[in-house]
Amino acid sequence: MTTSYDANRPELCPIRHNIDISTCSDANWNLARQWLSRCKDSHDCAEVKGGRHPTRLIQMNQHGESIKMRLRASESLVAEQEYCTLSHCWGKHQFTMLERHNLLALHQDIPMRNLSKTFRHAVLAACKVGFEYIWIDALCIVQDDEEDWQREAATMATVYAHSSLNFAATAATDGTGGCFHLRNPDVIRRVKPFKAKGTGGMYGTDSTYLCSVASSWDAEVERSPLFRRGWVLQERAIAPRTLHFGKSQIYWECGETGSCEQFANVIPWWDATTTSTKELRAAIDRNEPWSWWKNVVAEYSRMSLTREDDIFVAISALASRYQAATGDQYIAGLWRTGLERNLTWKSTFDDTAKDLSVTKALRPVRYTAPTWSWGSLCRPVKLRNVSNKWKQTELLSSVVDVKVAASSQNMFGQVASAFIRIRCHRLRRAAVSDATPDRKNAFMLRHTSYYMPRYESDKRWPGYSGYKKPYWLSFDTGPPENLENIYMMGAETRKWSVDIVRGLLLESTRACGEYRRVGCFRMGEYFGDDSESGTCFSSLPVAGEASAYEEVVEPDERGCSYVITLI
Ligand SMILES: [Zn+2]
Repeated sequence: MTTSYDANRPELCPIRHNIDISTCSDANWNLARQWLSRCKDSHDCAEVKGGRHPTRLIQMNQHGESIKMRLRASESLVAEQEYCTLSHCWGKHQFTMLERHNLLALHQDIPMRNLSKTFRHAVLAACKVGFEYIWIDALCIVQDDEEDWQREAATMATVYAHSSLNFAATAATDGTGGCFHLRNPDVIRRVKPFKAKGTGGMYGTDSTYLCSVASSWDAEVERSPLFRRGWVLQERAIAPRTLHFGKSQIYWECGETGSCEQFANVIPWWDATTTSTKELRAAIDRNEPWSWWKNVVAEYSRMSLTREDDIFVAISALASRYQAATGDQYIAGLWRTGLERNLTWKSTFDDTAKDLSVTKALRPVRYTAPTWSWGSLCRPVKLRNVSNKWKQTELLSSVVDVKVAASSQNMFGQVASAFIRIRCHRLRRAAVSDATPDRKNAFMLRHTSYYMPRYESDKRWPGYSGYKKPYWLSFDTGPPENLENIYMMGAETRKWSVDIVRGLLLESTRACGEYRRVGCFRMGEYFGDDSESGTCFSSLPVAGEASAYEEVVEPDERGCSYVITLI
């Protein structure tokens, strides 16, 4: 990778040469302490002071090479007591955790030898950087006490927001991975400014560039094992600063900068993560807070969770931040503002998602969310833009009633049951048929001549044309078994050169006027010369039977008079 190098401003990219064979080195502890004091002294990324501390903290006392540890109830500590935190992957290996049976014993002594390698390394790192207290979830929350767990999980936002530094075991897939790694120092040292001799082009002529092997930030932080784990998204977003232990380097990340051993001041191609709470403030300043939530959901829905039930709990701290900043009403992973438009979120595929879809079920085994929420799927999703700023869209439906019952005191946590009632136009019936034998892996709306690949990801399918499609149907978990009985609800229409209708694909629950979401669609109202005859939303047959609707009422200003319930 190359980046331009301004020799008059060498402080931008000084190159370090004291790179040790291990990432656990005195040079690195010095560097980490420098990064921390630079951030504390000259950045605007301070931790939150005051307020409630986590219930328990681990106190560490270093005597020579040995470290003594014990649990402390934080009410016995001063209110402004500094502490650090740890982000890590749990994995399947068993190691000492805080449980009811050892609660008292761990208040006396936490034996270092019983901890996982990752915890031992984190404790050593915390001492080396100069901390006396650390918070580690597995040792500070009573793991076999559901009440303790629910209460502490709900305060996760404050735990990480108050943390002076979050250590991240970024390269470790579980507790056996540790924080420190051996590396080849030569690869890291091999970054030199060089003079380019060229005849123009994107880098100009006679400039000086920095050249390094690759962007290790992307490979070792963004695509690391740690950032495949759902819980870590909010830990990283809320902690004011994180020290990442990568495979070949340590990395610094705070609201203002990203650094590494190779580029100790600032990584030239570093971009702030789009899900940080600092970005939320920026999005609010731009008057589009929803764009931040959209990023959060897009990132989060790619990650995996050990417990499917945690789907909302593991980002509840971010939801609570958003709620506090905007005052909006939280509705099972969505927000009341723009809800009508955002009900048409779409499940997405890409290369990383493809891996997930192979290893993961499409829906959780147990109920986690209503079908109209993205939380009912275990796959990447994309929310819509709530704003109508650029696209002239008109809503074709309105949500008239919302009911979400939470499973616990945490209103951003687990959902026990939920429904919404929608006022809309009459539903359309979509008879989707399997394609003819010569068009395998395809389906079509009956009475049209346009075939679609059965899975949208299948770009190799010969009939696929990403751009010029008269319609697309996107099924959340692939086409349902009964393709004959799909209902379509128009949610919004876009007045453009061609009118476009977007909406939901629904399946009847057999109760009067009650449906489950099975996907979403986008369809043209009419087409120009190259139209497919009959392929428009209003030409589809309407669902005329009385049982298709919960009730029929006086039309509202949008002409909607049919009421249905989605569960
Ligand atoms: Zn900073």
